[in-house]
Amino acid sequence: MAKVLDSKIPAGPVPEKWKEYKAHQRLVNPKNKLKLDVIVVGTGLAGASAAASLGEMGFNVINLCIQDSPRRAHSIAAQGGINAAKNYQNDGDSVYRLFYDTVKGGDYRAREANVYRLAEVSNNIIDQCVAQGVPFAREYGGMLANRSFGGAQVSRTFYAKGQTGQQLLLGAYSSLSCQVKAGKVKLYTRYEMEDVVIVDGRARGIIAKNLVTGKLERFSANAVVIATGGYGNTYFLSTNAMGCNCTAAVQCYRKGAYFANPSYVQIHPTCIPVHGDKQSKLTLMSESLRNDGRIWVPKKIEDAKALQAGTKQGWEIPEEDRDYYLERRYPAFGNLVPRDVASRAAKERCDKGYGVNNTGLAVFLDFSESINRLGLDVIMQRYGNLFEMYEEITDVFPGDVANEINGVKYYKPMMIYPAIHYTMGGIWVDYELQTTIPGLFAIGECNFSDHGANRLGASALMQGLADGYFVLPYTIQNYLADQAVWPKVPTDRPEFDEAEKKVDAELDRLLNIKGKRSVDSIHKELGHIMWEYVGMGRTAEGLKTGLKKMHELEKEFDTNLFVPGTKEGLNVELDKAIHLRDFFTMGQLVAFDALSRNESCGGHFREEYQTEEGEAKRDDENYFYVGCWEYKGKGNEPELIKEPLEYEAIKVQTRNYKN
Ligand SMILES: Cc1cc2nc3c(=O)[nH]c(=O)nc-3n(C[C@H](O)[C@H](O)[C@H](O)COP(=O)(O)OP(=O)(O)OC[C@H]3O[C@@H](n4cnc5c(N)ncnc54)[C@H](O)[C@@H]3O)c2cc1C
Repeated sequence: MAKVLDSKIPAGPVPEKWKEYKAHQRLVNPKNKLKLDVIVVGTGLAGASAAASLGEMGFNVINLCIQDSPRRAHSIAAQGGINAAKNYQNDGDSVYRLFYDTVKGGDYRAREANVYRLAEVSNNIIDQCVAQGVPFAREYGGMLANRSFGGAQVSRTFYAKGQTGQQLLLGAYSSLSCQVKAGKVKLYTRYEMEDVVIVDGRARGIIAKNLVTGKLERFSANAVVIATGGYGNTYFLSTNAMGCNCTAAVQCYRKGAYFANPSYVQIHPTCIPVHGDKQSKLTLMSESLRNDGRIWVPKKIEDAKALQAGTKQGWEIPEEDRDYYLERRYPAFGNLVPRDVASRAAKERCDKGYGVNNTGLAVFLDFSESINRLGLDVIMQRYGNLFEMYEEITDVFPGDVANEINGVKYYKPMMIYPAIHYTMGGIWVDYELQTTIPGLFAIGECNFSDHGANRLGASALMQGLADGYFVLPYTIQNYLADQAVWPKVPTDRPEFDEAEKKVDAELDRLLNIKGKRSVDSIHKELGHIMWEYVGMGRTAEGLKTGLKKMHELEKEFDTNLFVPGTKEGLNVELDKAIHLRDFFTMGQLVAFDALSRNESCGGHFREEYQTEEGEAKRDDENYFYVGCWEYKGKGNEPELIKEPLEYEAIKVQTRNYKN
């Protein structure tokens, strides 16, 4: 019999669902909250906001992170901003419009009800953050300022220069610290969750490694929440922080949590191009730059060849010889088309030979027009730190005048190219953000919930904080309502013994391979396979080759890995080896999902399924579902379980950003 997934979405017209739902919550008796413990793994925007909120509500929270401070979570990397439907600009924004843009942006592969709820609470997030003192940019008159991000024709992105994630995290961190001081949150920094402990079918605790002493420790609670971020680093080179990993999520998957839509990986169009094979990190240039920067390549192939040979510079090419290809192809949205569309368009130009650097894999992002119109001061106020970051890395300052043709000043353009950035797929959760393991919840980037096949810019922070501040604190109570009557599970139960023994045995296994290859050398090779066969353009044949190559490389990992040191004390190489073990599982999962989805949608582009103009061609008849995967053991193909999508409020149609 086919397995059935209950997403717990209540019936009723979509806009009423969340209100109805809140009204029907079986809220935990306030006295009992004091007896209930919740483990929150992660202190990024999702984890920190959830831990702070749960602590404030009276639960006892155990909060862990791998960094030495919650403030160092990957979330601080977020540059451009956070969306909300405040309509401060009076440009026609509304909750419905944010809901609509997000569903359309996700190529109609997200759950309608989840996205509506997200749009609805978006405004509360801004109020909450302002109350915490987050220094959002303001207009001269004091009103919070907004800018535009891709896939929207309104300005709804709130920002704090190019450091929005950092400022939001400082806000969440101050709330968290308040709860630490009040004794409601116990913080464990430099701890890594290695496994989830299941007792009688419910998540009852975790095994975590103290990264400084190397010791394994047991934590027991009434519920476990993972907020451990995405799996972009499977590709080795990405814009993610170096420490980002998917170990916690993959361990939950191995223990029975379904993994949803793994093939939906976001490739961001505006990253600094790869410049050599010694690189281990890519740098994002925020999407906000597309508000004022124009993307182009030369119209003439001979100009492109001269740029590639270094005999010509971008600023020597006059206006009439520039192809602003996004403005040409998508007049309605221009440079602000969604990321998947912009990335594919850049690849198309470069594949045709119009790339502008020595590798032929770059396009220009040019501020000449906006600097001429607004002045450098205004542009620096908006993007100063991004210009400086670009200069630090490339030694080119995009605000420097380089040429004057027919009285028009030309500034030095940035060079950009698409790179792995965000993962829409993640642990499957129902409407309550609960996974298929009762008592195990997943929030933020590590769940699959709201972005469908493509996330719109500035919506990840919105989702992370919505989950942490406003959704999970309600929905988890539904699960916890009757938990207070059960005694807390002691950590000396056999389930904890067994889980800890397995983790310990894995550490021994990795240390004892004693082969010849470093973790990074194998990870880099995995990244090449992922980018080549499971990257921006996928084919059935390529995916099969990719899977075969991954399988062979995993064997190499299992037999020829060298991890120096011991498991006692700090051993960063050992930690990286654990992460790589799980990137292998993840990489294969991405490929399986991509192979099973014979259509193109959002970030998942199968070259066999495209229109004559090179746009993604969906197949709603056969693939209008969330693809959920159940683990079937190492080396075995996972099982696909489908959650059909149902739309009531939005008409499912082909995305159009042209008019
Ligand atoms: C360069 C860059 C710029 C971005 N800019 C924007 C933007 O402008 N707007 C936007 O909306 N989004 C942006 N994003 C995306 C956004 O930053 C992330 O999606 C979001 O911050 C993820 O938050 P999170 O809390 O889910 O996870 P993270 O911030 O990744 O936090 C994960 C947490 O889990 C912990 N952790 C991980 N594994 C374990 C483990 N095994 N055990 C214990 N702890 C663990 C980590 O210590 C960390 O505390 C950007 C992303 C990048 C890479």
